[in-house]
Amino acid sequence: MAESAEQVHARVLQHASDGRLPMPDLGEWDVFPWEVREGAVAPRALRPPEAERLREGEDPARPCSSCAGFDPERVVWEDEHWVLTHLGEPSGLPLVLMLHTREHLDMGDLDDDLASELGRITNRLVRIVGALDGIGRVHVNRWGDGGSHFHLWFFARTEGLASVLGSYAVEWDAILPPGPEDVWRADLHTVAVKLANWGGTARA
Ligand SMILES: [Zn+2]
Repeated sequence: MAESAEQVHARVLQHASDGRLPMPDLGEWDVFPWEVREGAVAPRALRPPEAERLREGEDPARPCSSCAGFDPERVVWEDEHWVLTHLGEPSGLPLVLMLHTREHLDMGDLDDDLASELGRITNRLVRIVGALDGIGRVHVNRWGDGGSHFHLWFFARTEGLASVLGSYAVEWDAILPPGPEDVWRADLHTVAVKLANWGGTARA
């Protein structure tokens, strides 16, 4: 059972009485697209073209951390082909999960059997996480610009928080103060046990 919108909102007001939280670190990222110009929020200048950056696992200086082994403390569920992990601690959204292949593959490289498994696991996860009390929606995202080892993101957002919708939920994950760890761990356990109903092993 994730926190209700009322509980999240009350926690935010403890940090900021008008509901305006501090700017998270992502404002410093070079890909952050906004700046303040003449007192208003405006797009940053588009940088000139440059060579594509090598991702982790492609750059000899940055070997693939997934192939080096997943941190067992972060594994929620696993089977022969897949590993589901969390980020190690609660964040602003009630639940953020990552599904990885065991093998070093990129999206587009999965054979039909693995792609079919991906569809089934994704569908189950969205259903399981979305059924937790307090969850309004589960967003599924694949970017793959940082690491070359297949990983799919699952972002669960709180039900009834009108600011936290669509792709902006990802930013709110960094903006909102993290929720209680016991609630987060109980939800991870529920997800792990329910996903293991179809096979694999629950680890959370
Ligand atoms: Zn890898």
